[in-house]
Amino acid sequence: MKFLKGTKVYSILTGACPVCHEESMYKHPNPYSSIFQTLSMNERCSHCQTKYKIEPSFFYGAMYVSYPVGIAFAVAAFIIANFFFELTLLQSFFIIVGTLIVFMPIIMRLARNIWINFFKHFKKKSKH
Ligand SMILES: [Zn+2]
Repeated sequence: MKFLKGTKVYSILTGACPVCHEESMYKHPNPYSSIFQTLSMNERCSHCQTKYKIEPSFFYGAMYVSYPVGIAFAVAAFIIANFFFELTLLQSFFIIVGTLIVFMPIIMRLARNIWINFFKHFKKKSKH
């Protein structure tokens, strides 16, 4: 993953600070380590002082992103269940529902990471 550092893909996949890529925005870097705190974030980056929550309820916008991200997971689950395992449509449907539940922490974080990367951009050298 290190070779992606400096690209938006790195910040989106790892949840790293979108400006310096030096540390995780989240209090728990692993989205599954504490299921009720999956979305709890640090207020600022300790390296570059970037404020993550740009304005109040900034991350509500991530809901719009979580929709296409969820669809992408659902389509992938359908293709694997229906074409590779040749399950029926009803079985595939339950696989999709299960996939969305199991991957929910990842989907919600990906949506936030993508959302904040629309507004914050990588800077090679910090000002400090
Ligand atoms: Zn930073």
